[in-house]
Amino acid sequence: MSKKSNNIVYPLAFPKGTKYLCELCQKPANKICERCRVTYYCDTEHQQTDWFGIHEKICQSLIPLRVPLPFLPSEEERKKRDEDLKNKKLQLIEYTRSIAQRYLFEGDYQRAIPGAMTSLKLVIEMFGLKSVDLVPSYLILGEASQGLGNLSQAQEYLSQAEWTVIKSPDCPLPILSKLYRNIAMLQIAKGDFDQALRNLANDVYYASEEFGTENYQVSGGYFLIANIFFKQGKMDVADSLYRQVVTMWHAHLRQVVNKKTEISELDTILGKKDEDDRDTETLDKFKVQDTERSNELASEAEAKKVLYSIYEIRRNETTPDNQELTKIEHCLSMVHFLAKEYDKVQNYTDLLESKKDLDEILRSELQRVIYFIRMK
Ligand SMILES: [Zn+2]
Ligand SMILES: [Zn+2]
Repeated sequence: MSKKSNNIVYPLAFPKGTKYLCELCQKPANKICERCRVTYYCDTEHQQTDWFGIHEKICQSLIPLRVPLPFLPSEEERKKRDEDLKNKKLQLIEYTRSIAQRYLFEGDYQRAIPGAMTSLKLVIEMFGLKSVDLVPSYLILGEASQGLGNLSQAQEYLSQAEWTVIKSPDCPLPILSKLYRNIAMLQIAKGDFDQALRNLANDVYYASEEFGTENYQVSGGYFLIANIFFKQGKMDVADSLYRQVVTMWHAHLRQVVNKKTEISELDTILGKKDEDDRDTETLDKFKVQDTERSNELASEAEAKKVLYSIYEIRRNETTPDNQELTKIEHCLSMVHFLAKEYDKVQNYTDLLESKKDLDEILRSELQRVIYFIRMK
């Protein structure tokens, strides 16, 4: 990507009175998407950025939301149409945000921005500028900006998010947890570890309240705390926190994989096909369970990032802990399985099966996964 698109300014309020505004930067637009004819751009570059970030997946879905609606004489029909439109928008918010979240976890920051912008705009359109529903989109935009090295832009989005949360006493705990985590991430980038640790303590507190103390969704905060101690050379604390993170992911992945290999056995018998090819995904094919699937994909991406990073640390230790390595390798095989990266699953399975002291239950789980892959 070129330099220019890294420096997009995203105004939070959209100027009124101008007829056509760029989808991405809200500046006056003079290009139109020829496919939907309801989306505008200031230049080809923004069009391309938007296209590859989100628009290719939602281009056609935007048409019914943006074309002027014909007058319907019956109030009942009008009500029904409003209801339909509302539901489509809600669905689009979920969808665009989950796509953005996934790119974010994969480190594709540039590509995360258009989806997050689309969801942000839709939330503003539906719920106004004070809605707590804005926060997840602000957080993605902040994280993406940070990933692109634009710390002041990241700070701006986080301040928006914080301000919105302060005004919403009923803010859901997972959002609070994520907000504190992201504030901490920015402080880590700035080298302010003390402040970061304080915010990560809040993150862990709210996540534990919501999900329970052992849940993998709490592990993100622990992982960052461990990284800080690791950087500070406090290896004892870092070590036990990394173990905790691995244990949380291990339990979670095991549960998901076991469930999946059971259910899919049934699907194979019933002849159901497994479809979630991301190249062909569009909102039309987006169903309720796809939100779940997208969230799963996002957590798979997080799992990969976290587990590979711990794996790297463990392998470089002077006396590697083999049991811990086995546990991480098992996690990695499961993550790749869920991501349908079967070659990599095979690599890890071979590696694990070559270990003499491998736990029998684990061995049978590996065999079940391999059996499942062969059946496909
Ligand atoms: Zn633009
Ligand atoms: Zn279009």
